[in-house]
Amino acid sequence: MSANTFLQQEMAMHMVQCQFALPLVLPKLSQWEASFLENMESWLLGAGKKIFATKEKALDAAIQKNLLIELKDEAREEVKTEVDKLKSKVEAHLMKDDLFKERTETVKPILMSKMDDLRERVTEETIQRLATLNENHCSSIQLQKFETLLETEQESKLHALVENSKSTKVLLQDEQLEEEFEGVWSKTLSTFDFRPSETDDITVRVTDILKQNLIRRGLQKHIKKISQKLTSNFQVYDEHFGYRSRLKHMFEDNNRLQRLEAQQLACSVIEEYHQSVADKSNLPADFSDSYITEMLENVEKALKDKSMEIKSAFEVDLKVYLCSSACQDFQKLHDRFAKDRELLTFITATKNTYLAKFIYQFRKSDQCQRVAQAFTSMVIKPTVLDYIYRPLGKCIVDEIQGKEQQYQSSHSFNRSLLEELMKEDRFESFLEYLLSYDSFRLRKIQETVVSHLSKSTNLEKWRQQRLGEIIGKIAAAVSETAEGTNGVLSDTKPLLERVCLILESDGDVDVTRASLDGPFFSITTEWDCLVTCLMELLAAMRLELAKEFSQNVDITELLHCLPIQPQHFLLNKVRGCDKQCPFCRAPCEAEGIGHEVHRALLHRPKDMLPYDLCSVSSCPESMIQGNTAQNKDTQNTYVACRDLQSFHPDRNIYTEELASQMSSAYWRYVLVRYNEKFAKEYKKKPAKIPEEWKKITAEEALDSLKEAFLAKQC
Ligand SMILES: [Zn+2]
Ligand SMILES: [Zn+2]
Ligand SMILES: [Zn+2]
Repeated sequence: MSANTFLQQEMAMHMVQCQFALPLVLPKLSQWEASFLENMESWLLGAGKKIFATKEKALDAAIQKNLLIELKDEAREEVKTEVDKLKSKVEAHLMKDDLFKERTETVKPILMSKMDDLRERVTEETIQRLATLNENHCSSIQLQKFETLLETEQESKLHALVENSKSTKVLLQDEQLEEEFEGVWSKTLSTFDFRPSETDDITVRVTDILKQNLIRRGLQKHIKKISQKLTSNFQVYDEHFGYRSRLKHMFEDNNRLQRLEAQQLACSVIEEYHQSVADKSNLPADFSDSYITEMLENVEKALKDKSMEIKSAFEVDLKVYLCSSACQDFQKLHDRFAKDRELLTFITATKNTYLAKFIYQFRKSDQCQRVAQAFTSMVIKPTVLDYIYRPLGKCIVDEIQGKEQQYQSSHSFNRSLLEELMKEDRFESFLEYLLSYDSFRLRKIQETVVSHLSKSTNLEKWRQQRLGEIIGKIAAAVSETAEGTNGVLSDTKPLLERVCLILESDGDVDVTRASLDGPFFSITTEWDCLVTCLMELLAAMRLELAKEFSQNVDITELLHCLPIQPQHFLLNKVRGCDKQCPFCRAPCEAEGIGHEVHRALLHRPKDMLPYDLCSVSSCPESMIQGNTAQNKDTQNTYVACRDLQSFHPDRNIYTEELASQMSSAYWRYVLVRYNEKFAKEYKKKPAKIPEEWKKITAEEALDSLKEAFLAKQC
């Protein structure tokens, strides 16, 4: 071996020992190390995935502990395997390298021990990082849990507030909302499960503070008292007082007063301490050293204020007593927050953001509620009521016509009226029929409708059915509008207009949308918030109306409110021709729309009428009210007798006598029966009645009705 080679080897040896020179000796080593560390990074990535996969289970201490132990073992194993690989690479390299081949025995142990150091360092670091990963995961799960809990509390509070503002219509101020939020916040904090600590004892911290305090107060000689076990209650001893002081007060009942005074002072300090524990336990904060410092200062202050002649042992005993209580009391507080300190710091710092969100949400849902309410009451409800009540009049008429024979034609109706009059046999009714034909008929129809409805159960059925239909249509229209608007802020007015348009496209729905104009309905909000409000109100309205429909109803009032009143509708169906006989006012019974020749079936004797028919024949135009123009038209002339119906008659041939001759048995009978009363009513003399008329019986009178209407039917 030449001197030169020896020198080289010596240098190499030194370089191997010096870690900075190592890369020069084994240039590939740093490359191998880098790939080792890279492998560990990807292993950690996998381990992290396992930790995150535990999700909420992370908060189960046992599960998480086991996982962590498992992962730590795996980490050790992984590092060992990797380092072993590294070692064999280094060994192989040494065998090949000319420079080291000769001195392997010396160089190898040095390198191997470096590898072992590396293993230890990386293992420790990996385990540390596992713990951090785990803690981060737990914290974020805790934060999620906290926010979920806060959100739940907020939601129920918001709901209550909106409900309240709905009923009171009072606009809440920000300060009131802040106060409400404060309640939600402290409730959430007090019910939230902070992860308990397992081992972190605060005694050492408290003792340290007490020690420092005593040193600062020049009371080092009492330090051994700190470890004393104390009785459950603080007691004043004779030893707390100096010899001279005891002597001075000897005759005061053996120091009783002095001791009492000291005991009182101690009590008030202890009381104050309990109060502060209670206050601090309510704060959402972990135990702090300052709590102890403050407590010790209180003792000093109390003693200074009182200026008693008492030895420092009293102060020390009192402080030791308080500190040992504090260790227990504040340990609970510390345990509550220990693991979630950072979480607590974070959420406390974010409190204002939560508050702002709370107020914003309230304002939005309050606004939504107001718009939804207005839309429901101003647009939806009138639309619903119109949908329910519009066809009701027709339904009622159809039902009556289907059930009651006399409403099937104008003939049967008129005939039934006359038969009923006969049965009733009241002069006033005859008079009403003769003089106020329209209002008489309307009254009769109204009576039928009311009595029909009070027996029918269909009124509720129809309304409930229509209610169900229209609510379904509205809900569908609202949902259709809601598509694709989830979570998007938008102007509500065009959306509400769209709801109306969709509804209107259903031919059966008449939307009362005039009130939608104006800026009131234009707010910017999340549409689904408004949809929720609308659906709730819609459901409430449905319930309310369904309940109303199931209850007894005042039929007259209901009829009055219908857009189509069944009595008018029914009258129109049975009214027939409006023309009357110019001589006796008997109604035209001709059928067919637009018939040219009018004719009455039951003419009346002239004495049943209030005016003198003599004048009619001489100037008929003036007497036939409203028909003047038509009477000039021969196409539209009144035929006074069914026997002459085929004629186009000349008006002059009709005389009062002819008219009277044509009067029906029915009316002749009525006149005979009420001749006196008619005369009195019309303020004229009773009529002279032909003898044969007096022979007509009620039966014959009714028969004449049958005959007249039957003949008409042929
Ligand atoms: Zn701690
Ligand atoms: Zn007539
Ligand atoms: Zn007619």
